[in-house]
Amino acid sequence: MLVSTYPIPQGQPAQSTSVISAAYNLIKVYGKGESEVRALNGATAEFNQGGFYAIMGPSGSGKSTLMHCLAGLDRPDSGQVILAGMDITTLNDKELTRLRRDRIGFIFQAFNLLPTLTAKQNIVLPLELAGAKVDRAHLDAVVASLHLEKRLDHLPSQLSGGQQQRVAVARALITKPDVIFADEPTGALDSSTSAQLLQYLRDCVTNLGQTIVMVTHDPNAAGYADKVLILSDGQIVMHIDHPNADVVLGAMKQFGA
Ligand code: ADP
Ligand code: MG
Repeated sequence: MLVSTYPIPQGQPAQSTSVISAAYNLIKVYGKGESEVRALNGATAEFNQGGFYAIMGPSGSGKSTLMHCLAGLDRPDSGQVILAGMDITTLNDKELTRLRRDRIGFIFQAFNLLPTLTAKQNIVLPLELAGAKVDRAHLDAVVASLHLEKRLDHLPSQLSGGQQQRVAVARALITKPDVIFADEPTGALDSSTSAQLLQYLRDCVTNLGQTIVMVTHDPNAAGYADKVLILSDGQIVMHIDHPNADVVLGAMKQFGA
């Protein structure tokens, strides 16, 4: 007779991961005839909740187009874009605008802060625009995570570039978005300020459970991510788990970046 002395594993794996954002077979063509450009040519990618992802690839490979489709800023010609279980390509423009406001955070290369508002006013602006209440505990956690406690009453002009970008990160975090999309977030920063900002983004993923998808061309930046996805000619051609700068650089050379 066979007696099982160990509990038989059941149900979910210990570290269950759930897909929060995904693109399936995206096609996006700009222009017509001679001037036609296939920016996305069957791009498929999945992003798990609480992960930090870097999208890389040569200039013109479709990174920004993919990110804009994932974030509902642009529409693919065909394919599915999933956010939190919903196919957002079925939404009309008004619904998409609302979805972006309520469920997605953005960080751009230019910090895009409002110059006449203080750091704190900039951070809570998305909530004000949505007519939502400020969650005091979350605001404190975000401000502490980005070490902005002593800068809240400053105007953007009174802050360094790195501090301004930290305010922009806090503004992206304040609505507890499903995903933050960042397009070259360190593009305007020097290398030591970049390293500091990337560590803060890393901390937001690790400590606050935030999901971040970042477009970058910098192998050092990609080294902070959990996973790198490499785009070439509008398709994802490689995944690198637990990336480091050397491995990423090698992969980039392979694909002509
Ligand atoms: P990346 O961000 O990787 O540099 P993009 O997604 O910006 O690449 O662009 C992919 C391709 O699509 C490029 O050839 C680019 O010129 C083209 N493209 C992007 N946006 C437009 C647009 N609005 N009109 C025409 N062509 C575009
Ligand atoms: Mg781009």
